[in-house]
Amino acid sequence: MDRRDFLKASVAGAGAIAGMSSLGSAASAAEEPAAAGEKPKATGVLKLCSQEGRIPGKSRKEKIENLLKWGAVGIEFGGMDLKGAEQAKKDCAEMGIGLAALCWGYFPFIDPDEEKRKKAVEDMKKALEVAAAAGSTGVICVPAFNNHPQLEFYEAKKVLLGLLPQIGEHAAKVGSRILMEPLNRGEARFLNQLAFGAQLCRDSKAEGICMMGDFYHMCIEEPNDEGAFLSAGKYCHHVHLASRRRDLPGQDQMKEPDKPERSFVDGFRGLKRIGFQDYCSLECGCQGDPMVEIPKSFQFLKKQWELAVV
Ligand code: MG
Repeated sequence: MDRRDFLKASVAGAGAIAGMSSLGSAASAAEEPAAAGEKPKATGVLKLCSQEGRIPGKSRKEKIENLLKWGAVGIEFGGMDLKGAEQAKKDCAEMGIGLAALCWGYFPFIDPDEEKRKKAVEDMKKALEVAAAAGSTGVICVPAFNNHPQLEFYEAKKVLLGLLPQIGEHAAKVGSRILMEPLNRGEARFLNQLAFGAQLCRDSKAEGICMMGDFYHMCIEEPNDEGAFLSAGKYCHHVHLASRRRDLPGQDQMKEPDKPERSFVDGFRGLKRIGFQDYCSLECGCQGDPMVEIPKSFQFLKKQWELAVV
């Protein structure tokens, strides 16, 4: 889908312009994913996107111009305040680009200190309000990195499931969602696989509790990318893109010519099967000149998407 088609079809684009909730029908677009071997119930779309910091340009305007020129339809920002959210929403609407998730980071939901957990919930509620004001698709969060104090696994899971319903309720009330991000065990030992993220979403029984997948971490943790996205199903509302070595997709062979390129085909097949409607966003390094390499990587990804036949 090119930018013109996207703007015609996109709930996010229409929402940003009309001031509607950016979540739109995305939350319900993938009601129940098709099982492997079944025909997908909805058609997934590849909406290319990038974190703002990955894109060259002296200003936000220049960065967005580059993204649009290269066929992307969304941009991902980091955590911000309410004023920043209003500005980001205005900038994106004026330039005709979708505003993807806000990559916020660590919220100490599984810290042994109850006071810190309570504050984490309050901080997340504020972040959700900012995400809603920006018209973004949600708040990316990690319950603990390995260097953070954290409860033992089963206790952490129990405590987190105790907190998620009130967070999810607030998210739904303000028109946003949280996006828990599974990371590889070297970075964060609590949440590594998409299936576990989906289990947390399901067991929280709260509309605003969702998750995402990151191809770099999935390469380390998942036995099968397609299966991982099928497990994530309707809870998956964002994707991070990176190569096996965490460079641009398609760049692995620049570092290791003797190893196969990280393939996105299986994962993209999974996204098609679940009717994925959200953004696939670059979060990675770059070998060489980004002005040359990023458009090449987007072309590579479009071809991988075509190869993912369901
Ligand atoms: Mg990531």
